[in-house]
Formats: sequence, structure tokens, C-alpha cells
Amino acid sequence: MSRIVVVGGGLGGVAAAARLAKQRHEVTLLEARRELGGAIGTVAQDGFAWPAGPTTTMLPAALRDLFRKSGRPLERELGADLSPVETIREHRFADRTSVRLPGGSRGAQAAALEELGPGLGEAWVSHVDTYAPVWDVLRRHYVENPWDAADPPTDLRRLFAARQTLAKRLRRDFRDDRLAMIAGYLPTAEGHDLRNVPAWAGLGTYLEQCFGVWQVPGGMARLAEVLTNRLATRRVTVLAGVLGRDLVIRDGAVAAVQTDEGAIEADAVVVAVDPRRLPALARHVERTMPAIPPVVTRLGLTDEAPALEHDVVLHGDAMITVRPDGTAPSGHRAWTLLGRGKLSEDMVAVLARSGLDVRDQVVTRVDQSPRELVEEWHGSPYGVLWQGRGTPRHRLGPTTPVPGVYAAGAHATPGAGVPFVVQSGALVAAAIGPAS
Ligand SMILES: Cc1cc2nc3c(=O)[nH]c(=O)nc-3n(C[C@H](O)[C@H](O)[C@H](O)COP(=O)(O)OP(=O)(O)OC[C@H]3O[C@@H](n4cnc5c(N)ncnc54)[C@H](O)[C@@H]3O)c2cc1C
Repeated sequence: MSRIVVVGGGLGGVAAAARLAKQRHEVTLLEARRELGGAIGTVAQDGFAWPAGPTTTMLPAALRDLFRKSGRPLERELGADLSPVETIREHRFADRTSVRLPGGSRGAQAAALEELGPGLGEAWVSHVDTYAPVWDVLRRHYVENPWDAADPPTDLRRLFAARQTLAKRLRRDFRDDRLAMIAGYLPTAEGHDLRNVPAWAGLGTYLEQCFGVWQVPGGMARLAEVLTNRLATRRVTVLAGVLGRDLVIRDGAVAAVQTDEGAIEADAVVVAVDPRRLPALARHVERTMPAIPPVVTRLGLTDEAPALEHDVVLHGDAMITVRPDGTAPSGHRAWTLLGRGKLSEDMVAVLARSGLDVRDQVVTRVDQSPRELVEEWHGSPYGVLWQGRGTPRHRLGPTTPVPGVYAAGAHATPGAGVPFVVQSGALVAAAIGPAS
């Protein structure tokens, strides 16, 4: 058995810890905050509760696999299976046209987009189809198995070497700007400039169409609850309220994690936080920048506000996503607004001009700037900013240049977002292997 310290108790760190404990390692998890889960949590005020971060996930197999491989199946742990989201998002454009994008069906998406204009359904599915071979390469060599950045298989190397940017690809594939906005939505919402995102990284459209988008019964915060219990069952020592300050390197390999309470000895360390914040790793990631969270406003509304059944994206100078998830006292609704782009005024005012006027229905609100969110989570849950095709080689994970140090979470391979962060835990566990 070896002693492994995991730094960071967000979804990435918890996933790694659960798997490593199942592999019979002695695992200690350090979390700077009082609770585990990181961005997966709840913000509460005046009887309202809003999801702090994610509300849905792509690729449900990643979560199912985590539960199965670290203990009991997810549906037994949560009391119900994940449920598919019928309409992934409604996109509303400045010209007052709109489209509801269904999940998990090529035919349904083609039909929905055809209603925006003749030929648009076909243009959409032809674009999305181009990502099937991309996913095949990524899944095999990057998402489901640890990659070796120094010696990647030929098809992965070719993919990562491709020069085309997503901005260019969308201009080539779509004459209608609205389709480009829908296809560029996910990376834009995660804080990236499409001119710096490689074309292959636009594959979220394919994953949504092929595998659907899913909700966790009881909300994402339930995941943090059941995973916290899972760690207790697996006898992981959780040190909450403890910040990992740095790694202690002896004879060229990691030997401990430095905290304010002293050093915690380790045979291996999993860094599931922004590695730029740990001095011993900082020089290995100096070419990376974090992708910054959006401006967030959580609204408590009276039920005179419209009953939204799915996310609504308002495209304009700024892009605002309205998420109607969360719980509210009887006769009320809870919305979260996530803003990107040129936001020179209050998002509620922008909403009003776009036809969603709830100014008179607001009974409470919680505003959080990107800086406040980064401070709260001690880093950005959106991981590494796309700065061109070199980005996958510049971020760490599952291994790192420091012997004994592994990287998981949004800042590591294969990137941010619930399924990828969950997979990062699997990749680290595979790279470390079972205790001997
Ligand atoms: C508003 C918002 C909406 C989102 N929506 C979606 C969505 O709908 N679907 C989706 O798939 N993804 C979504 N995401 C992204 C997703 O939530 C994240 O990519 C994922 O949860 C990141 O997990 P993580 O463990 O890497 O990091 P985090 O959740 O950031 O957790 C990191 C943890 O490490 C702790 N920590 C940091 N530094 C230290 C240290 N030195 N020592 C000890 N502890 C430390 C922090 O306190 C934190 O708890 C969203 C994110 C946000 C912010």
C-alpha cells in the first residue's frame, strides 16, 4: 500500500481519491474549504437555493463508471438513474428568431434547425458529423486511457497538430451566423475565444447530439454528498479546511505536501487544483492561463416570471445563459444568469431588452464576479484557457514532469466539465495502478 495525498476536493480530486482508495492505496484528501465538491455545490439565500456550478453533464458513462468502479452503481447510490434532458437549450438571437436544440438525436436536431431556415438542418448535421472520427481518436487515446505527451499515437498527434481554428471552421461550415453561434456555444460559455480554440475541440456538439445531456436526480449537489460518503466508506482521510501550499521534493521526487499545519508525507501526490498555484509545479505550466468563470447573478423571483423548462441562451453583444434550475419557496422561481462578452450593464436589464423582463419579479439576488468565484474555489473550475493547438501539451496530466506527481481536475488532461474531470480521476488511477 502506498500513501497518496490528493490536493483539492472538487469533483476531480474526489473521483481520483475514490478510485485510488478502491485500488487499496492509503489516501488523504486535502480540501481548502469546509465541504467537498468544489464547483458542485449550492448557493443559498432567503429560502432560495441555486446550483453553484454545473446543472447537467454530457457523457453519462463517465459518472456511471466512477460509481461502478469505486463501489455501488450510481442509481443505487442516488436512488434513481440519471435522466436525459429533452431540450438541451433554447437559443434566442438578436433578430428575435429562436431554436430549441433537442439532445441525443441527429434527426430531431436536423428537424429543429431546419425550422430556422431551409437547408440549415442539413448544414448542421453535416458539421456535427465531422466530429465522429475526432471523438474516436480522443476517446481511445486521451479520454479513456492515459496519454504520453512525449510519444502520442500518430492519429492523436495529427489531431493535435491540425492548424484550423474553431472560428475558421464555423465560418467555413455555416453561412448562417446563428448556426455558428450554436456550434460555438460551449467553448464560448466556458470562457474561450474561438480564434484560439482548435477546430477539433468543438466536438461538444457531437457529444450532445450522440450521447445526450443528462441531469442528476436531486441536482448536482447530491453527487458531492454521495461521493463524500463514498470516501468515508473507502476510508479516505479527508482534511477539510486545509490548503495545500506546495509540494516537498526530495531527491528529485515528491515526498510530501506542505500545509500550514505541517508537511504530510506521501509516496505520490495527485494535484487536482490549478498547478500554477503550487510553486513546485508552477514552472511546468508557465505557458498556461486559466479560463475565467462568467459573471454570475442568481435571482429569486416571484412566479410571475416565466416558467422556463430548459436553459435559454440570449445571443447579442453579450451572451447570457439563463438556467432555471434550483429550488425556491412556494410561489417563486430560482434562476441563474451566466454572462459572457461585452457586459456593460446589469444582466437583468439586458434580459429585459431581449424580451425576458423580470425586473419587477426579483425578490432577492446574489451577484458574483469572476474574481470572487475564482477566490471562492481557489482557482477556476473552467481549467486551462485555450491558447491555440499547443494547449493540450502545455497542461499536465495524468502524469507530470515531477516524479510521483499526477494531475487531475479541470486544469489537467482531458480538460474541464463534469465528464472530463471525472475521467481525469480514472486516468490518474490508471497511471498509478493498484497498490502492490
Ligand atoms: C458556473 C459554472 C457552471 C458550470 N456548468 C457546467 C455544466 O453545466 N456542465 C458541466 O459539465 N460542467 C460545468 N461547469 C464546469 C465544471 O463544474 C467544472 O469543470 C468541474 O466541476 C471542475 O472540477 P474540479 O474538481 O477540477 O475543480 P473545482 O470544482 O474548482 O474544485 C477544486 C477544489 O480544490 C480546492 N482547492 C483549490 N486549491 C487548493 C489547495 N491548494 N489546497 C486544498 N484545496 C484546494 C478548492 O477549494 C475546490 O474545492 C460549470 C462550472 C461553473 C463554475
